[in-house]
Amino acid sequence: TPRVLSGIQPTADSFHLGNYLGALRQWVALQDSHEAFYCVVDLHAITVEHDPALLRRRTRVSAAQLLAMGLDQDRSTLFVQSHVPEHAELAWVLSCLTGFGEASRMTQFKDKSAKQGASAASVGLFTYPILQAADILLYSPEAGPGERVFQVPVGEDQRQHLELTRDLAQRFNHRFGETFVPPAAYIPETAAKITDLQEPAAKMSKSASSPQGILDVLEEPGPMRKKIMRAVTDTGTEVRYDEENKAGVTNLMRIYAALGETSYADIEARYAGSGYGQFKKDLAELVLDTFTPIRERTQKLLADEEQLDRLLAQGAERAGAVARRNMEIVRDRVGFVGRGR
Ligand code: ATP
Ligand code: MG
Repeated sequence: TPRVLSGIQPTADSFHLGNYLGALRQWVALQDSHEAFYCVVDLHAITVEHDPALLRRRTRVSAAQLLAMGLDQDRSTLFVQSHVPEHAELAWVLSCLTGFGEASRMTQFKDKSAKQGASAASVGLFTYPILQAADILLYSPEAGPGERVFQVPVGEDQRQHLELTRDLAQRFNHRFGETFVPPAAYIPETAAKITDLQEPAAKMSKSASSPQGILDVLEEPGPMRKKIMRAVTDTGTEVRYDEENKAGVTNLMRIYAALGETSYADIEARYAGSGYGQFKKDLAELVLDTFTPIRERTQKLLADEEQLDRLLAQGAERAGAVARRNMEIVRDRVGFVGRGR
């Protein structure tokens, strides 16, 4: 079975609809066809200023949401990145293979550091894509018989980082011998890029969107309906798919089509002549039908923190075994002296 690896940052009190439609929904589906490793990447979350107590809470809330969405420790491996110290170790080795210019071309750093200015941003934010490469390559399938298929389900916004990961895998292999399987981007057809409800040109983002622009998985029904009703559209009245001239409506249609499992043509036909109001009302119900059960299960999981931590320890155990094996190979290939017994 092919292997997949994917991660998500615990940078908010809730995941949002973009995370769900762009990534997490696929994570759940992939458990059955793949050997799946999923991690809550807390090391990435400290690349920007953070509050320790908040990070701890958000890491658990993130894990609980993933389980509530349907991740299952019996069908996949869910773990917390910092529980497996090899992530940071491999990142160091890979950072020594990455050109400064190469790292400087990563557009996400430019976006994320724009607010504070590149020189005020941390070096960790700058080298973030290298840690991400380590997260992935640590779970590269082993050499040996059988197919070595390695995929990374990511959103469109992560394409450039995955390209760097592939380059680093190939560079390592070239310098030190065949070690890593360069991972392929797996961008499922059903994955949609969701934009900010108030700023349809920007992606919906945990850290960059305003509260009014973001639909949280854990949002209560009242505020959820309100936000959808107030989503930016345009001065027209037509529910029509048109990225260029109707970015707001188009974004809402993308959400509707993904959750309602229907086509754009179908949506256009259904709301022909009825304006935006009814369309938005129905959309809100679709979103709530999906998120309400997830919110309730998340709350249950969070009520028993010990049990949640036990589940995460199970994941760390299994992920750690794979990571340690691969890191031992890396240490040897790079030329580090073994520790002896
Ligand atoms: P942050 O603002 O902290 O970077 P984020 O909202 O971008 O948060 P990430 O943790 O960086 O979320 O990404 C988690 C996953 O969700 C990634 O696979 C990413 O591609 C996907 N994703 C994030 N935002 C969107 C979006 N608006 N539409 C579709 N997919 C998204
Ligand atoms: Mg992001």
